[in-house]
Amino acid sequence: MMQCPSCARPSEPRLTCPQCGAPLGVELDLFAALGLPHKLVLDSRELERIYHETGRRIHPDRFASATPAVRQASLKSTALLTRAYRTLRDPVARGRYWLELMDEKLAENNQRVPADLAELVFEVQEQLGELRGARNGNANSLGAAMKARRAELEEIVNTTQEELERNFARWDSGAGERQDLVNELKSALSTIAYVRTLTRDVDRALDSATADIKTN
Ligand SMILES: [Zn+2]
Repeated sequence: MMQCPSCARPSEPRLTCPQCGAPLGVELDLFAALGLPHKLVLDSRELERIYHETGRRIHPDRFASATPAVRQASLKSTALLTRAYRTLRDPVARGRYWLELMDEKLAENNQRVPADLAELVFEVQEQLGELRGARNGNANSLGAAMKARRAELEEIVNTTQEELERNFARWDSGAGERQDLVNELKSALSTIAYVRTLTRDVDRALDSATADIKTN
């Protein structure tokens, strides 16, 4: 139990005091900060509603004339609420945070190519090399091929995000071995991280190829 800095009554650690509604300013896990159970499948509209409603109730402007302890609590709780909302509304960030809660981490070898992507990555790297070395004449067709490849990468991210959603549902239902779920989650998150990086490389190469065509 803790003491509410506003009404001084005892409360469980939570975002706001159940007695007077003032922010308590305590550190909480991000699900608890939004008053949510530890479930991975989230309704994004509900999440947004909670964020805005709670945000209004604990906003520092409302406590401008309160004691320093209450003002401090308002700032802390508002920052926590924002961090919770931003992390949990994004499935990838939510998955990463979940691993943290499970005391698991994406390996530092996150930069290593996921095995099932190795061939694709190799092809994309080759294409990138050709595009970077291209002269005006064939830059256009190479660029078109690269754009097709980019769409393919985007499709992989979409499919993997669907996998991620299915993994979330399995965690919530309590079905499946914990270690299997952890491995599945890690694999989906590394694939997304890796393909996103690759997509940025492709975009950069496409941008500079387009710039070259314009200037020459
Ligand atoms: Zn209170």
